[in-house]
Amino acid sequence: MTAVAFLGLGAIGRPMAARVAERYPLTVWNRTRERAEAFARSTSCQVAATPAAAVRDADVVLTCLPTSADVLGLLDGPDGVLAGIRRGALFLDCTSGDPATSRRIAARLAEREVAFADCPVSGGPPGAEQGGLTVMVGGEPEVFDRARPYLETFGKLIVPMGPVGAGDAIKAINQVLLATHILALSEALTAMVKAGVPARAGLEVLNASSGRSFVSESLVPDRVLTGAWPRLFRLALLDKDVRIALELIRQLDLESPLLDVVAEHSAALRSELGEAADYLDPIRRSEQRAGVEIRG
Ligand code: NDP
Repeated sequence: MTAVAFLGLGAIGRPMAARVAERYPLTVWNRTRERAEAFARSTSCQVAATPAAAVRDADVVLTCLPTSADVLGLLDGPDGVLAGIRRGALFLDCTSGDPATSRRIAARLAEREVAFADCPVSGGPPGAEQGGLTVMVGGEPEVFDRARPYLETFGKLIVPMGPVGAGDAIKAINQVLLATHILALSEALTAMVKAGVPARAGLEVLNASSGRSFVSESLVPDRVLTGAWPRLFRLALLDKDVRIALELIRQLDLESPLLDVVAEHSAALRSELGEAADYLDPIRRSEQRAGVEIRG
């Protein structure tokens, strides 16, 4: 049966890899080895000591790291991916990456006759656990067809977006909209509650009206109103995505006055709240500064 390697067992990589292991023989590698070993205690897989060892017997390699630069950094050296990967293998990068670096990675892998697609995902760790992620694929049509069975282990909607880099592009556009909605709602909901409107009733009206978004319909009711505040996606990674989108817009020579403000605000919040902060912490910061609580 096809052997798969998965590199990068972070918040989203872990549940994705667990889904892969249900269908394929899996070898994992993680920079901090203890995390890979902890993962292997609950999942049927082998743990490799290096990226080269992880990919040596793999027909398909999946990666999920913070940035495309991190993936590029795994390729070289005696322990790197290129030292171990088989000719003819398939390399699927599920990082929310940047198009230019994905094209560089694809070119390096092509020297070894390894096919590449950027396959960023949406849906968060709960979506990965249920096999319900959306996967945006940048790659040639034949690579998409080869990739689909592996992406289907954790993905429900798997969409070809165009050539290498196109998956990264649509993901970054989604993320800059997500950041805009979160930052706008953090100010608007705080004002709503400060104005004396009960949070749950006010949100119910917004969600039956034209101001609604995924953030107001799903994230705020589940994570803010309840006071649960789970830590599932780092603000630093969302800020990274915003920068990818802004770089794309700059390369297209387009203006983005509103998104420029979002990017400035996102960078300031990342620096204030730190690298470990969750992407909904800006809502908490906004309510704390106003002396209100969005609960109900
Ligand atoms: P985390 O920060 O939780 O995990 C990052 C993972 O990458 C860890 O396994 C970490 O290893 C590893 N890593 C970090 N830097 C390097 C490096 N230089 N070389 C090798 N390994 C490295 O990130 P997430 O899992 O949340 O996110 C991964 C990607 O998926 C990001 O691009 C993110 O934007 C995207 N994404 C995340 C979602 C989420 O809800 N969390 C949703 C959709 C997309 P170590 O254990 O050693 O720290």
